[in-house]
Amino acid sequence: MLPITNALIPVNRYSRPGTKLKSVKGIVMHYTASNGAPAKNIVSYFGNLRLPANASKAKPTFASAHYSVDDISIVRALPDNEVAYHTGSSQGYTKDALSRLSTYPNNCTLGVEMCLDKNGKITEKTFQNCVDLVAYLCKQYKLTEKDIWTHIGVVGWKQCPLPWIQKPSEFTRFKQEVSNKLKPVTTPPPKPPVPAPPYKMGEKDIEKVTRFLSALWFIPIATTTKNDIHKVAESIRKGQNVPKEHAEKAILFLSAGWKFVDNATDRKEFNRLANEIRKAADLPQE
Ligand SMILES: [Zn+2]
Repeated sequence: MLPITNALIPVNRYSRPGTKLKSVKGIVMHYTASNGAPAKNIVSYFGNLRLPANASKAKPTFASAHYSVDDISIVRALPDNEVAYHTGSSQGYTKDALSRLSTYPNNCTLGVEMCLDKNGKITEKTFQNCVDLVAYLCKQYKLTEKDIWTHIGVVGWKQCPLPWIQKPSEFTRFKQEVSNKLKPVTTPPPKPPVPAPPYKMGEKDIEKVTRFLSALWFIPIATTTKNDIHKVAESIRKGQNVPKEHAEKAILFLSAGWKFVDNATDRKEFNRLANEIRKAADLPQE
């Protein structure tokens, strides 16, 4: 957010009465209706209302707002805790303002003036500077986007801010963008590491091991041992998530084969198959 430039105007009855705000219940958005006038000029205008040119008039102007915002600056004309003359109305107030603010909304709201470019538009930069400022004020005074008002929303008749009356979606967008800034910044929790899928033996290796195991079937061993071999072969056939005890038994049988052969190539193959089974059973390789 841009820094807030303090350019406090002197206390005077036309634009800074020096009265304390009762509380801050809302923020009221305005437009300057002055094409091309920068924020500092708007603040000067409010300050100059105390001078004879206005003060000596039969019907002097009473006007001010706490903040004026343009493309490059945010200028504060009155302290936040003082009444500004931005949303007073001789014609009364809307029901909503009467129920949620007060019978004199100037005593519980902050006024923000949006400056216009030379074509009478609120530029995107000005819009975003206002989003920053209003979000900052909402945080400071524990308000939400629901506490952001337009001048017309408070008084019901004043055509202010005109660009938003002509295009109401802009006010909606404004509240949404302020709301986005008010959301607590949450960093997403770190994703749990995805476990690697269980290792699966290759089809050929499964076949080699199961054929080896079925060969054992034909040697004269106890039925319980044969049943064991059968169960082990079933597990090996799946090729993954092999129960550790089945893997160990299969390797035990393979080691008998290893002892039986006496050439390095075959022994190496038995070793390799044993390791394939270990991987499929999540056992350390040897
Ligand atoms: Zn206004």
